[in-house]
Amino acid sequence: MLRETVLSPRCLVYTLGGETPLSSWGVNCTVVAGRDGTLVVDPFIAPAHARLLEAALAARGFPPVTHAVLTHHHTDHALGAGWFAGRGAACACHRACAAAMAAQHPGLIAGRRREPLHAALFADAAPHRPALVFDQGWSVDLGGVTVEAHHVGPGHTPGDVAVLLPSEGVVASGDLLFAGYHFNYEEAALDGLSAALDRLAAFGARRLVPGHGEVGGPDLIEAQRRYHAEVERLVRSAASDQAARAAVREAFPDYRLGVAVGSAVQRLR
Ligand SMILES: [Zn+2]
Repeated sequence: MLRETVLSPRCLVYTLGGETPLSSWGVNCTVVAGRDGTLVVDPFIAPAHARLLEAALAARGFPPVTHAVLTHHHTDHALGAGWFAGRGAACACHRACAAAMAAQHPGLIAGRRREPLHAALFADAAPHRPALVFDQGWSVDLGGVTVEAHHVGPGHTPGDVAVLLPSEGVVASGDLLFAGYHFNYEEAALDGLSAALDRLAAFGARRLVPGHGEVGGPDLIEAQRRYHAEVERLVRSAASDQAARAAVREAFPDYRLGVAVGSAVQRLR
């Protein structure tokens, strides 16, 4: 069930909630519409979820999706963009994101298709090659609304991008911010996380859309810093991997995505 959060009449955040692939791991997709087109940020894990979004946007009377921007290459953020690309939208991402998509997506899609629980969702998923690849940044005027994509990594991944909507006072952070979800450290640059959060803060946006979890204010950045510091302390002081996992889960009892705690133990111990 697609849930929408209205940030302004032309800017919304969509999510399927939850914490499994069947709901795109709860990823947030930010949407902004101008006179000439609509831009989607991180449009879900599969074409089927992208179509739900497309229908919701049509119901709102928004113009067709002309652009998709990816904050990074993880499938829950990137695979659904193939659907919009096939419908004529231009997909933009950082060079390192495009490279990781090409390297990882074919194998990940094939793997999901072998899993009975996920085979149907990924049946028509396909790797795609973004048309607009940039190093520092990229921007577009949708007709009365400007969108700016800025490389802010490496942090969560090498190709991290934040998407700034100056007219809305909004920034979509991708997975540099998780709100109420455990952080995925799998491909993180541990020594880059703090600087990436500094860059995010420097935009001065009033509202921040995390990769997963509820939209918030600048306090989300400080909460993420505290999380990193606390998880690092717990993992490094634990007697075993198992004790480390238990300590992190216990410290954040309400957090979703417990499956990601393993990545903290693997990378931080
Ligand atoms: Zn991610």
